[in-house]
Amino acid sequence: MAKHLLTTSVGSFPKPNTLITARSQFRRAQISAQQLREAEQEATRQVIALQEALDIDIFVHGEMERGDMVAYFAENWQGFSQSLPVRSYGNRYYKKPIVENVVSLGNSVGLTVDAWKRASELTSHPVKGMLTGPYTICDWSFNAYYPDRRSLVMDLAQLVHEEAMALARAGAQYIQIDEPAISTRPDELELAIEAMAVVTHNLPAKTISHICYGDFETILPGLYDLPVDQLDLEAANQHFALLDLLARYPWPKSKELALGVVDVHSHRVESVDEVKAGIRRALEIVPIENLLIDPDCGLKTRTWEEAEEKLRVMQKAVEEIRQEDGLR
Ligand SMILES: [Zn+2]
Repeated sequence: MAKHLLTTSVGSFPKPNTLITARSQFRRAQISAQQLREAEQEATRQVIALQEALDIDIFVHGEMERGDMVAYFAENWQGFSQSLPVRSYGNRYYKKPIVENVVSLGNSVGLTVDAWKRASELTSHPVKGMLTGPYTICDWSFNAYYPDRRSLVMDLAQLVHEEAMALARAGAQYIQIDEPAISTRPDELELAIEAMAVVTHNLPAKTISHICYGDFETILPGLYDLPVDQLDLEAANQHFALLDLLARYPWPKSKELALGVVDVHSHRVESVDEVKAGIRRALEIVPIENLLIDPDCGLKTRTWEEAEEKLRVMQKAVEEIRQEDGLR
């Protein structure tokens, strides 16, 4: 019997202080690129060790080499330049990329493969390959070149597809393509779906898309048509109201749901009982074979201690339910 209620994480982990220091030293040219990479690798080791210690099932590498999830790709691919910092969600500032030419991978084919590979070598658990989706890269950039958003999104979809294929060739069994921007313009949901079909076309891996900042009401049930094997949705920060919404439409048999059960925007560490209650509610609408459990979003905005405690509570809640229900 396969294991039930597999646990995972969405992607980013908090950067340890030593890496924060190394990144700022690198920006001031006080350390070499090689020294920065070593600091990133040491941080990755801590991320893997924590997931091992907590007995999480499907691992992430923690994204220690990335600042912003869109800027990371824009800085390495061709066709982009950087603007001045702009404010994004909450108090986060980032340099919004500007598309000023045809986008291409340039010399960066397999950009994400090395970090994935180095993390995978540290564990026997599968590690997810992590990409940002074409719709979100377009939505979080200024378009100063393409005649319309559609042509930019579709060009980006081809690049993300090539990067996903490089991860699959390297051996990634799970490839996650994050589309947090997908719910911001419901009238473009079809475009996002069309682009994702390009990304996941003939991709020999389990495909996942993480979506947050969600006004899910405006994009359901259309979101069920996103061509990925697993939807990874935040739920805890709205007290699992998402589940009432999902209950209105039959959950598609062919899809998995990774349910966010701890709020990554709150310092408060949830209780095991409230997480269990959320999982139990989800089990009323999604078959247990289709349900995975994770935090609402990347953990990078939390302290290391908060991230660790939230994951510990999540894992304990799952283990208690497995035990109570006689599951593996
Ligand atoms: Zn998210």
